[in-house]
Amino acid sequence: MNAEQDDELDDSLSGDDVLKENAAGGSESKSKWYKRLRKGITTSTAEKREMPEGLWSKCPECHYICTTSELKENLYVCPKCNYHHRIGSEDYFEILFDHKIYTELFDNIRSVDFLGFTDLKSYQKRLDEIHSKTDLKDSMRVAVGNMNNIELVIACMDFEFIGGSLGSVMGEKFSRAIDYCIQNRLPFFVISKSGGARMMESAFSLMQLAKTSGKLSQLNDAGLPFISLLTDPTFGGISASFGMLGDFNIAEPGALIGFAGPRVIKETIKKDLPEGFQRSEFLLEHGFLDFIVDRKALKQKVSTLIRLLQH
Ligand SMILES: [Zn+2]
Repeated sequence: MNAEQDDELDDSLSGDDVLKENAAGGSESKSKWYKRLRKGITTSTAEKREMPEGLWSKCPECHYICTTSELKENLYVCPKCNYHHRIGSEDYFEILFDHKIYTELFDNIRSVDFLGFTDLKSYQKRLDEIHSKTDLKDSMRVAVGNMNNIELVIACMDFEFIGGSLGSVMGEKFSRAIDYCIQNRLPFFVISKSGGARMMESAFSLMQLAKTSGKLSQLNDAGLPFISLLTDPTFGGISASFGMLGDFNIAEPGALIGFAGPRVIKETIKKDLPEGFQRSEFLLEHGFLDFIVDRKALKQKVSTLIRLLQH
């Protein structure tokens, strides 16, 4: 519903437009006013069509409706317009690892509220709530397995865990994953989806930018490949650190990628932003990305790329 419709509805509910119209001598709008309201009020609960939740999914881009199982089979990509729905680590691991077999690493590390930080609620309460709602322990999961018969380590973010934010746990997991890669001579593949630094960890969060970037230079010295996949959305501390430090920086189609959000930039430079600003296609055109990859081609393309880098 747009703002205009919003206002119209507000007016109808408060009867404002009728008063206005009556003052102007109009009677036509009066019947319009009743028609609109009667429709909603006279529908009894029994008559309303009930739809079980979670069975159907609507594409936010083209509004195409399909069953969630159909969407899952299509790797959560809209069959009509190729819109890439946001998915989490579990889905990416299943898509990428051969026969969906993998071993999760370092899943015993958990965030702690060492600053006693409180915004709308305390950080500890926030963490407890997410732990009880999901199986996630932090915003990044690391796993080792085979992808088209190449052994590799994949680290993937979960946006539903405080916006995939970069805290000390993500930094530590990232760093241990690199140690693991170096010990076992494995390539490293990172899938980013994050709003940036975790403000509840303040400076500790910012320190992860240096920690992860420093660790990547060790991986580089060991001659092991690092591929960074940026998915919708990737912002702030991630794009300011390891997200853009890959031997190859790649992205999913239509992903929003940037440092600051468009509103902040617009207010700072006092100019309108160009069409498609901060979308992966725009970034590719301006040299920030090496290529854009469809989710369906992801496994094949990344394994081919790793094979090329290894030989
Ligand atoms: Zn669509």
